[in-house]
Amino acid sequence: MKASIHPQYHITTATCACGNTFETGSIRSNLKVEICSNCHPFYTGKQKFIDAGGRVDKFKKKYGL
Ligand SMILES: [Zn+2]
Repeated sequence: MKASIHPQYHITTATCACGNTFETGSIRSNLKVEICSNCHPFYTGKQKFIDAGGRVDKFKKKYGL
């Protein structure tokens, strides 16, 4: 077994689009996210993360779904 086959999983600082930063586990460093517990509708009570402008379709295209 070669250990190098697996990407290194470590704790990194993720930066949200709202400006909030938090630590999370990722194989990438300096992770950027669009939503976090600070601005998620579930926590804020605002529905600002609804599908505006075909975000879901974009997402599907991006990942070839
Ligand atoms: Zn956020």
